[in-house]
Amino acid sequence: MNKGKKLYEGKAKIIYSTNNKHLVIQHFKDDATAFNNLKKSKVEGKGVLNNRISEHILSNLEQCGIKTHLVKRLNMREQLIRRAEIIPIEFIVRNIASGSLTKRLGIPEGTILEKPLLEYCLKNDALQDPIVSKEHIFNFEWATKNEIKEIDKITLRINDILTGLFRGIGIKLVDFKIEYGKAWNKDKDENEIVLADEISPDTCRLWDSKTEKKLDKDRFRKDLGNIIEGYQEVARRLGIMPEISNVKEVNFKKPSSIKFKKK
Ligand code: 5GP
Repeated sequence: MNKGKKLYEGKAKIIYSTNNKHLVIQHFKDDATAFNNLKKSKVEGKGVLNNRISEHILSNLEQCGIKTHLVKRLNMREQLIRRAEIIPIEFIVRNIASGSLTKRLGIPEGTILEKPLLEYCLKNDALQDPIVSKEHIFNFEWATKNEIKEIDKITLRINDILTGLFRGIGIKLVDFKIEYGKAWNKDKDENEIVLADEISPDTCRLWDSKTEKKLDKDRFRKDLGNIIEGYQEVARRLGIMPEISNVKEVNFKKPSSIKFKKK
């Protein structure tokens, strides 16, 4: 698979073309941003960890019948993915109140929600990803009624699967953001909805079940320190840390720049 030109550069990832028009390469950067780019930094090793964690989670979802854009991980920082036309909505699922929900509605942090709460935000940095209703989505044709019906169902199923997956490793899935796109299905000769982007500690709130220690991007947002240790802890509990270490020894140019705990 040949890596072609840069098609798009976002805050945490870069997309490159390939010699197959239906496939692209997703590159995970170490850049961390928060508060709509007001806070920026490099967190060394973050891209490597998110690449591996997201691959692991999306592969698990595929095994449960969820269609995703993931084809395979190529190396430490890159994945081969299906080219998808991204639906410009961030789908947020909340199980426990935190973040913008507490600020917007005054719900106390840590409140367990009776059932998962699904929110929609417009993907628009300049407008700070505003929350929108289904009526907005239909009115402005960001997605159709059928697409949202299908996506809502998949999203709640993903929440069930991931809640269980994380519970099994002593982590509470507080909330997360996912994105979907439309990708070509060559067998059916039509576009289908696929889970896109990534699922990682950058896009989820993950709290240790006992101590409620934050193991996600809130360590960066709230200046809690030890950001990479939080991400490593998630990888370690998912059972994928040794594999990352092996790849590191073979490929990584600066082994001292990322700390890996020995099992
Ligand atoms: P909140 O709305 O509370 O800021 O975020 C809810 C959840 O969605 C959190 O897990 C947060 O990490 C994720 N999320 C929301 N918007 C974004 C975004 O623009 N980028 C990333 N990486 N995650 C987001």
